[in-house]
Amino acid sequence: MYRRDFSGKLEMHCPACGEELQAADVEVFPYCPFCNQALPRDNRLEDFILEPVIRHWIGKNQSLFTH
Ligand SMILES: [Zn+2]
Repeated sequence: MYRRDFSGKLEMHCPACGEELQAADVEVFPYCPFCNQALPRDNRLEDFILEPVIRHWIGKNQSLFTH
């Protein structure tokens, strides 16, 4: 259901229909927009939703980590 692509980005696929989901799709309601499968709202889902925010934050604050 979850896997990382070659760049380290976390990807999520619906366990029912296999479509790739975006964080924005499941942020408000944890349902697959393609087949309406309810998704388990667990820590991994939270990570998936938060990851773009965290990656953006790290990118903006890169200087904090490089010295
Ligand atoms: Zn689905």
